[in-house]
Amino acid sequence: MDAIQRIHHISAIAGDPNENLKFYRDVLGLRLIKQTVNFDDPGVYHLYFSDHHVTPGTVITFFPWTNKNYGRKGSGQVGRIAFRIPKGSMDHWKGHLTAHNIQLESTYLFRKETLEFDDIHGLEFALVEGETAAESHDILGFHGSVLLSADPEGTKEMLTAIMGLGQLERDGENYHFETQGPEKHHMITPISPQPAGRFGIGTVHHIAWSVPDVETLKKWQSALQNKGFGVTVVKDRNYFNSIYMGEKGNIVFEFATDGPGFDIDESLESLGTTLQLPEQYEQKRQEYETRLPKLDL
Ligand code: ZN
Repeated sequence: MDAIQRIHHISAIAGDPNENLKFYRDVLGLRLIKQTVNFDDPGVYHLYFSDHHVTPGTVITFFPWTNKNYGRKGSGQVGRIAFRIPKGSMDHWKGHLTAHNIQLESTYLFRKETLEFDDIHGLEFALVEGETAAESHDILGFHGSVLLSADPEGTKEMLTAIMGLGQLERDGENYHFETQGPEKHHMITPISPQPAGRFGIGTVHHIAWSVPDVETLKKWQSALQNKGFGVTVVKDRNYFNSIYMGEKGNIVFEFATDGPGFDIDESLESLGTTLQLPEQYEQKRQEYETRLPKLDL
């Protein structure tokens, strides 16, 4: 099997869906490309955002909870998520986020200037400039993320020996890795494990890695099983097929196919404008439409 080329998507738990929508659409400038329900908990929305062209490697998704169950960040979770912006656009973003009263901190987390901030519900975020300039300042997609592992050596082994990521030189506190695809997603694992996290609002639920097709997905499924990992059956997520597993550091890894894609149930132009339900929930549409908060589209 070829090495993992890039992140497929990252899925996090948010609070109020309209606050989530306003932050990612109006502040970060991403496009809402799908409103559906959590297939495993259909009383909750599943909102997908990406760049305007729905480019692979740009998709971030949210389960917006309407309760107040905030999570605790810690090991067994994906930590800070970094998005990549065009070269030369950092000052623009500093001004833009400051105008929205977002507190910023410049660090060197990703081994270049890293603009750290939290989203509206406390999810840890960052912007990092890429290598090339662009006509607009728009977010280009993921730059990478932190992986808060309960077993940093086990996670390192998983990423490098099994998934084929390249290992970069470590710094004092972190291992650094990058995916093999042209996106070069930069993954960071702190060397000292932290106390265990707890899922809830403001935390990441899982990270998904891109695989080309179902045939390759099944190969990953048996390869991971042969290495002793518990792996789920292949799940039909409508827009892609997936398997899920817990890596040694307790982080939920998903492997997801590139296709069939987000235009399977609505046209590319109208993505995200209406609630889309998988076949098994279609007969309950009226119930969901009544119960789910109306989105300010
Ligand atoms: Zn997922």
